Amino acid sequence: MATHILGRMLGRTPYTDKWHLTNDLCTIRDKITNQKQFALYANRAWQLRGKHEGSGRIRSRELLKLARQLKDRLNQCPLDSSLACHNTCKEIIKEEFQHLNALKLRSTAEQTKDEGDERAAIDQDLEALERLIQQMTSANQATPLRELIIRSMDDVTLQPIRITERYTQYSEVVRHLRKHHDIEEAEIWVRRENQHTWTKSGYRWFPVDNPEPIGDCTLDFISAKHRALYVVVLVDQGGDEFPVALDIKRQGTSEECCTPRCGNLENHLEAVWPTRDVRFAYKIDAPNDDSVAILGRVFDTSSLIKYTHQLCFKCWPRP
Ligand SMILES: [Zn+2]
Ligand SMILES: [Zn+2]
Ligand SMILES: [Zn+2]
Repeated sequence: MATHILGRMLGRTPYTDKWHLTNDLCTIRDKITNQKQFALYANRAWQLRGKHEGSGRIRSRELLKLARQLKDRLNQCPLDSSLACHNTCKEIIKEEFQHLNALKLRSTAEQTKDEGDERAAIDQDLEALERLIQQMTSANQATPLRELIIRSMDDVTLQPIRITERYTQYSEVVRHLRKHHDIEEAEIWVRRENQHTWTKSGYRWFPVDNPEPIGDCTLDFISAKHRALYVVVLVDQGGDEFPVALDIKRQGTSEECCTPRCGNLENHLEAVWPTRDVRFAYKIDAPNDDSVAILGRVFDTSSLIKYTHQLCFKCWPRP
């Protein structure tokens, strides 16, 4: 509610009373969570000012006395954002609104309208409070989550790194990894859920741009220092889903990735992952591509796009 209503309401009182009361009521208004209900009270007080009832004019002084009574009663509450305080203040304003309305007789029709307006205001105030409580709760829950957990896609056996500094940009995370963890040229990836149906979570990983604001608390990185081209793959092993970065051969190069020459993805994976057996391979963007066909292809950039996550592997531990 705007201050000018209180100003108008108190407009005809002596300067000191007016100033004190405007000040007092504004202060109270800012502390309570019953804004709409309070606005009804203040508007009515303003309407009543100067009106006549019975033998004479309703004096500003009488209005001020009531307003001060409201203020004093409200001030006895803790005036926090709790539901208990909200309900206590609601009852006080309700009672004081009746005192205010007793200054001038209201018709039955007016009283019915008043009751409806009051009910609506009370409902709206309660909804606003519930939203506020919700926001405060989620803000509190979000605080500990602000810890960033960042995992290596180069070596998935490494413990995840926990970063408690409140960074806002990925560039700060990259700097942190170099400064405190000797990880050079980190490239950060984020995961999104339900991007495909090959695994339960449907995780798909996407590289971030360093100037972007951090939007996730669970991050993955690779160190690009000793890498040329790579792709990210999803490993699903016993329901455990995690990303792994794999160097990929550039199409057209005469250099081989493995000695002896692997010739296809299945042999390549057996060479690079001695403890993991990949039995099925899927391509996110080619749902009709056959697993056997995918595993039988040469592992190079002829069929895979560098720096993307396209492949999902169903794996078992190799005995
Ligand atoms: Zn650290
Ligand atoms: Zn190979
Ligand atoms: Zn195999």
